[in-house]
Amino acid sequence: MGKIIAIIVIVALVYFLILPKFTRSKKDIKEQKGITDLVECTKCGTMVDIKDATISTSGYICSECIKRR
Ligand SMILES: [Zn+2]
Repeated sequence: MGKIIAIIVIVALVYFLILPKFTRSKKDIKEQKGITDLVECTKCGTMVDIKDATISTSGYICSECIKRR
């Protein structure tokens, strides 16, 4: 019984020590990228902010191309 508890403690330690490192590194990557994520418009080829782009079946379409449609 003592061995099982020891294994659980080790697993828990590994879980709590390793997982936060992964989530932290993911956050760092996001911060390095900045707030703006640029995507290429499939219609006109210009780089637009992902927030202004609309996802279609063929890819991202910028707001200008949406207006023109
Ligand atoms: Zn466009």
